[in-house]
Amino acid sequence: MPNTMVTLNYYKCSPGLCGNGSCAAAPACPLHIIKQEEPFDFPMANPSNCRGCAKCVAACPYRAISLS
Ligand code: SF4
Ligand code: SF4
Repeated sequence: MPNTMVTLNYYKCSPGLCGNGSCAAAPACPLHIIKQEEPFDFPMANPSNCRGCAKCVAACPYRAISLS
């Protein structure tokens, strides 16, 4: 069975609307799969090690993250 894959939807993601441009989902991931290089940058995800815990999904206020 394939791993759960985290996906960022850049149509919904709005780093400028998150606190001080900081992605709330990035620090919520215990595996550091979601990274934001600088405030106001779009976060990036390397889903290969995602465990599907959905902490990032719960942390994002704009529903920009989904699991599949
Ligand atoms: S993924 Fe969610 S929490 Fe992170 S910058 Fe985008 S909208 Fe904000
Ligand atoms: S589902 Fe869990 S492991 Fe996967 S990116 Fe989100 S917080 Fe990290």
